[in-house]
Amino acid sequence: MRLSRYYLPLLKETPADAQIASHRLMLRAGMIRQEGAGIYAWLPLGFRVLKKIEQIVREEQNRAGAVEMLMPTIQSADLWRESGRYDAYGKEMLRITDRADRDMLYGPTNEEMITEIFRAGVRSYKDLPKMLYHIQWKFRDEIRPRFGVMRGREFLMKDTYSFDIDEASARASYNKMFVAYLRTFARMGLKSIPMRAETGPIGGDLSHEFIVLAETGESAVFCDRQLVDMDTPNKDIDFDGDLQPVIDQFTAHYAATDEMHDEAAFEKNVEENNRVSARGIEVGHIFFFGDKYSTPMNAVVAGPDAGDIPVQMGSYGVGVSRLLGAIIEAYHDESGCKWPTPVAPYHVGLVNLRAGDDSCDATCEKLYAELTSQGVEVLYDDTSARPGEKFARMDLIGLPYQVVIGPRGLENDEAEVKTRADGAKETMPVDTVAQHV
Ligand code: ATP
Ligand code: MG
Ligand code: MG
Ligand code: MG
Repeated sequence: MRLSRYYLPLLKETPADAQIASHRLMLRAGMIRQEGAGIYAWLPLGFRVLKKIEQIVREEQNRAGAVEMLMPTIQSADLWRESGRYDAYGKEMLRITDRADRDMLYGPTNEEMITEIFRAGVRSYKDLPKMLYHIQWKFRDEIRPRFGVMRGREFLMKDTYSFDIDEASARASYNKMFVAYLRTFARMGLKSIPMRAETGPIGGDLSHEFIVLAETGESAVFCDRQLVDMDTPNKDIDFDGDLQPVIDQFTAHYAATDEMHDEAAFEKNVEENNRVSARGIEVGHIFFFGDKYSTPMNAVVAGPDAGDIPVQMGSYGVGVSRLLGAIIEAYHDESGCKWPTPVAPYHVGLVNLRAGDDSCDATCEKLYAELTSQGVEVLYDDTSARPGEKFARMDLIGLPYQVVIGPRGLENDEAEVKTRADGAKETMPVDTVAQHV
């Protein structure tokens, strides 16, 4: 992509109402633009990161055996009356009336809708288990939308739903999502810690929140340091095998959010110097809730013996848009973002220090073509801005590598390559750049 054709509206001043680094940087780097309280437009740079995150979430869901689909954002109130949640959900739900005076709503989550879809298509226990997911915008009328995309009103969520014949097999589905979540966040460079959590309005009795430790997190959390150092299951793990040993390993140590925290148990079970009392960001949340929806909504299957059995369900959410904030909180410095490679909007920023100079232009064009043909994603700064502005802009948007081409270096056919993560700079022959990045 040539920067001259791109849309990258950077902010010069730090936005006054942005309290945390990720919110400030997303606005300053032209990734998002606020269109209303807790409602954001995703500008090209932010949109690319959002898509990368979404894709990692998708790949790990697919690996775990979940099947992708797409449900609408607008739902009928009648569905929610069936489960009894229409009144219970309260003011966080955005309620809408259509021209025929039908009560509608903008979905805050999809348990009811997926239960309706499932009951229409599945008849027998032989069709189970099933895991279905979608990645779709949600709306929750949060009292205090803040911190940018971390707590938006409109936000992108991946939500998966599992259907099983009995509790033991539902537990196996829960375990698959547990492992998939550990892997998903790790692939983005985030260490997530599963913590016992309350089930809240979703209901049910088994639940873990996946928390990324961050000073600016909204949840107070308590855990054993051993969890922070635990290895993530690798990609060859057999999702159809017994995952319980992995889950046992992660749940053997104390970890709880403040709602579930028990100070006495914490002190009794965790050695003093292993006690982590910190703040964290909830990036995912998994629930097993049995027949909470299947019974009132009559989602039953014919069992192996005579009679219908309500299915055992679970739901599993990832805050896809919130993850941008969580990643920036973990990877930034004074000058800007420092994207981990798997989610970086582009891999390389190619900086032409003197656009219009024949030799700089020709070298940049050649490198741009070479890298692009190798599948490297390049943002080529071909603008006539001053060098200082170009460097600051590249640091702000935080691509993993900056390749700088200027007249002085070209006298010796050399380019400067900077690694954004550690700031290391290296001068090298132009024709070795492609191997280096
Ligand atoms: P929170 O405690 O932050 O309000 P929640 O517990 O209400 O989140 P869930 O119903 O568990 O949220 O939804 C699944 C995931 O969706 C959360 O783990 C979080 O990552 C994300 N999420 C929830 N609310 C928001 C929001 N307002 N903005 C962005 N992401 C959100
Ligand atoms: Mg909430
Ligand atoms: Mg929560
Ligand atoms: Mg939650």
